[in-house]
Amino acid sequence: MPKEEMRWNLDDVLPIKKFDLLYRETEEKLKEYEFFYANISPEMPEQGFKALIDFDEKMSEKLNRLMDMPLLMEAADQKSAEAKLLKSRAENLTIKRANIARKLGLWIQGKPVENIKTLDDRNAERLFNAVLDLRYVLRHARESAKYTLNEREERIATEKDVTGISVVLNLRELIETEFKYRFKPKGKKERIIDIEADVLKYAYSKNPAEREAASVALLSKFKENLDKFFMMYQAVVKDWHYSAEMRGFKSAIAIRNHANHVPDEAVEALLAVCRENRDVYQKYFRFKAKELGMKKLRRCDLYAPLNIAKREEIPYNKGVKIVLDTYDNFAKGFGEKARVIISRKHIDSHPRLNKRGGAFCSTVAPAIAPYVMLNYTNRFRDVSTLAHELGHGIHSLYANRHSISSHHANLPLSETASTLGEMIVFEKLLEMAKNDRERKAMLADKMADSYATIMRQAYFVEFEILAHNEIMKGITSEQLSDIYLSTLKEQFGDSVSLGPLYRYEWSRIPHIFETPFYCYAYNFGELLSLALFARYKKEGSSFVPRVEKVLAYGGSENPDKVLKEIGVDMSSRKFWQGSFEIVKEWQKRLEKF
Ligand SMILES: [Zn+2]
Repeated sequence: MPKEEMRWNLDDVLPIKKFDLLYRETEEKLKEYEFFYANISPEMPEQGFKALIDFDEKMSEKLNRLMDMPLLMEAADQKSAEAKLLKSRAENLTIKRANIARKLGLWIQGKPVENIKTLDDRNAERLFNAVLDLRYVLRHARESAKYTLNEREERIATEKDVTGISVVLNLRELIETEFKYRFKPKGKKERIIDIEADVLKYAYSKNPAEREAASVALLSKFKENLDKFFMMYQAVVKDWHYSAEMRGFKSAIAIRNHANHVPDEAVEALLAVCRENRDVYQKYFRFKAKELGMKKLRRCDLYAPLNIAKREEIPYNKGVKIVLDTYDNFAKGFGEKARVIISRKHIDSHPRLNKRGGAFCSTVAPAIAPYVMLNYTNRFRDVSTLAHELGHGIHSLYANRHSISSHHANLPLSETASTLGEMIVFEKLLEMAKNDRERKAMLADKMADSYATIMRQAYFVEFEILAHNEIMKGITSEQLSDIYLSTLKEQFGDSVSLGPLYRYEWSRIPHIFETPFYCYAYNFGELLSLALFARYKKEGSSFVPRVEKVLAYGGSENPDKVLKEIGVDMSSRKFWQGSFEIVKEWQKRLEKF
C-alpha cells in the first residue's frame, strides 16, 4: 500500500452494521405512500402537497443510502460478496418503491391514474409553487409528459421495442463480436485477432505500419458487412423518426435536446461554431505530421504517440497540494469545499487489486459530502483527473441546500466546475513545468484530447442530422457512406489523408445506433466550461462570484435561464466562439516551441 494512499470511509453514507435497520425502516415507511394517496386531488391544499413531496424526497435519500453504500463498496472491491449481497437487497427495495411511487409520478405529469382525479394545469402550477425548490423539476416532468402517448399506446410501443429495435441493436453487437480481424502490417505475416480492443490498441502504436494495419483490419470487416449495418441503421433511423413524429417533436434531434434540457437553437449554434473552427485541429494535425516526420498525417496516425519529453512524476500528496493551492487562488469556496471532501475521508486514491478502473465523483444526497474515486499513478494526467473529480464534488457542495431531486445539475451545466477546475489546474501545471519540452508535450496531449471530445463528436452529430434526413427520403449504403466521407473531408480539410476504407467508419460508431444524437453531450459541457474559462481569463476574479452562482443552482432551474442571469446566451455563436479562442491559444503556443 503506497504510504500516501487514502481509502474512503463510507460511514457518512451508512455504517454497514446499520444497513438492516435502515432497510427495515424504509420498507415499513413505504406503506405511508398509501396514506398520502388517499388524500391526493387537484384541489388538495398546498401544505398537503408539500408534505407529500417532502416525504417522497426523504424516501429517495434513504434509498440512495441503501443503494450507494454497497455500490461504492463494490467500486473499491469488485470481488466483495458482501457488497453484491447488499446491493441486490437494495435493488429489490428500489424496485418496490418505484412501483409504489409510479402513481405519484404519473399524477404529477397530468396522466390519468386510477381512483385519483387528473391534475389540471392550473392546479399543477398552484401546487408546484408550494415547493419552489422543485418547481423546475416538476414542470419539466410535466412538460415531458406532453410527448408521451397514452398508457396503452406506450405499452404497445414498449412491447414492440422488445421484439423490434432492441433485437436490431442486439444483433449489431452480436455480429460485431463475432468478427475475426485480419491484422497484417506491411512485410509481416498476417495474424488473426478476435477482440476489437486488441486491434484498437495498435492505433497508439509507435510503428506506422501497425497503425495502418489496425485501421485496415478493423474497417474492412465493417465494409464486408456493410449491407447488414446499413439495414440496421436504417431501422434505427426510421424507428426514431416515427417515434418523434408520433410524440410531436419537431425534429429528430429535438427528442434528445428536450431530454438534455437544452434548447434546439443552442445545439445549432454549438455545431455551427464547431464547423467554423475546424481549422484549429487541422493546424494541430499538420503540426503532428511534422513532429512524426511525415509529409502528411494519415487518418490512422491521429493517435500516434509523440515522443517529446519524459514527464516528471507528481506524487499524490503533491498533486493534492497543487490542486488545493490553485483552487484557493481561484475562489475561497473552491478550496474550502475540496478540503471538506478530503478531510472527511471521502476519497479513494490509488489503484489496487480488484478496484474499479477510471475515476468518478458520486453524490449520495445533498446532506452528504460527495465521494471521489481515483486511480492515481503519479502522472500529470492524474492531477487533472483529481482536479476534475474534485470539481464535481465542489459543484455538488455549492448546491447542497437543494432537495435531492433538484440538487444535481443537468447536462449543459453538469461539467461546469469539473472542466473549469481542470482548466485552471492545467494552466498551473504548464506554469510549473520544468522546461519547454515538457510544456510542449502537455499541450500536444491537450490538443489531442480536445479533438476527440470536441470536434470528432460534433461531426458525428453532423453526420446523424444528414443521415436521418436522407434515409427518410431513401438512399443506398454507398450513398450513406458518401455522406460520411463528406463530413470527414469537411472536418480534416487537406490536413489528413483518408484511406479508402474510412468512408465506412460510420458503421462502427455504437452511439449513432444505440443513442442517436447523444454525441454532442460530450462536447457541450466541455465547450461551455471552456467558454466560461475564457470569460474568467478576460474578466478576472470579478467573474468568479458569477460562476459560484451558477453552481449554487444545481439542477433547480432551467440551465438556459441560469446562464442568462450571468449574461451568457447558449444560443449565441459569439459565446461558443470563446471556447475556441482557448483552443486556438493552445495551438499557437504549441507551434512556437
Ligand atoms: Zn466530468
